[in-house]
Amino acid sequence: MENILFPCWMEINAHNLRHNVEALKNWTSSSLMAVVKSEAYGHGWEAINLLYNFGLKKFGVASVEEAHELRKRGLKGDIYLLGGFFTEEAEMIVEDQLTPVVSSEKELQALERVAEKAGKIIPFHLKVDTGMGRMGFLPQEINEEWWEKWGINHHLTLRGVMTHFASAESDPTYTRFQFNRFLSFLHQFPENNSSWEKHCCNSAAFLSFPEMHLDLSRVGIAWWGVSPWGKGSDLPLDLKPVMRIKARVKQVKTLPSGSRIGYGGTFTTSRETKIAIISIGYSQGLFRNLSNRMEVLVKGRRAPSRGNISMDQMTVEITGIDGVEKGDIVTVVGKEEGEEITIEEIANRANVIPHEVLCSLGKIKNRVIYENHCSVAK
Ligand SMILES: *Cc1c(COP(=O)(O)O)cnc(C)c1O
Repeated sequence: MENILFPCWMEINAHNLRHNVEALKNWTSSSLMAVVKSEAYGHGWEAINLLYNFGLKKFGVASVEEAHELRKRGLKGDIYLLGGFFTEEAEMIVEDQLTPVVSSEKELQALERVAEKAGKIIPFHLKVDTGMGRMGFLPQEINEEWWEKWGINHHLTLRGVMTHFASAESDPTYTRFQFNRFLSFLHQFPENNSSWEKHCCNSAAFLSFPEMHLDLSRVGIAWWGVSPWGKGSDLPLDLKPVMRIKARVKQVKTLPSGSRIGYGGTFTTSRETKIAIISIGYSQGLFRNLSNRMEVLVKGRRAPSRGNISMDQMTVEITGIDGVEKGDIVTVVGKEEGEEITIEEIANRANVIPHEVLCSLGKIKNRVIYENHCSVAK
């Protein structure tokens, strides 16, 4: 890890990722999909290769664009298009051998056309909207007429059926209601439903409701050791954080009492104050509303944000922390000596969900994978 001279960078702990993969595999007898939209929740494309090397062979993305990027980078395995697709993108589905999750008649028609043209049979999954109110067919839309047209089709073959929970992390009653609707939907097709891959769980449901795992679970945030509830202590499993963020000190100085700090002067010193200017800001994904609310670790001690976070820098107070010099490395996310700053802490301080913090920090493109001495899993 020596000699890193980026102003700020992300570290990916491959050892912890592998630990999480094993822990999550042991939690279920279902198979697992790694949902890796938004560049693996900000961890970067390389992190997806790590997941593949640790034994995952099914991946979920939001768009054809993301799926294509993964194929271009040589990712093998199944890629599920969880967020549907546009008509013009249907050909790419054949070319990149993607598995589309279909939510509308229009998508089915587009697939049928390209399948016919290519002389191929396209496998697809059906998305049923059991109460999320977003993508998916309503259960009543999958009637006999639908079935005759799309359930038995020369060009398309139905391989799986899924639904998505709206409130798995906060509302068990509603989640059970959606799950029961999903089960009643499936029971309408007893002769087919054993051949389908049936799936509904995201991380929160996967961790809270083992009885809902069915054939396949779509895990996203949990791979990265971050809690979908925003509280690490709520995790029923020992998961370890994978992402660390480091930045360097650009300047150290002492301001007299009564000095304002930063744009808008939102902090005024009430005593002689030692500050460090750190090379990370909102352009690297630290929300500006964390100004005066977050802390970083300097020499293993918490140093609070002072004044507004700027585009590429922020200021922290280091009064009482000795020996800090220009060029020193501070920890924005991660552990240092006894202290730790987690993604969950930042999410709570910014009043957002942990998923948002990860995606935002994904703007940091300097990434270093470390502790990657694990052998490749089968
Ligand atoms: C993003 C997503 C998931 C994963 O959600 P997490 O809360 O990160 O586990 C699962 N299913 C679908 C359809 C998704 O879009």
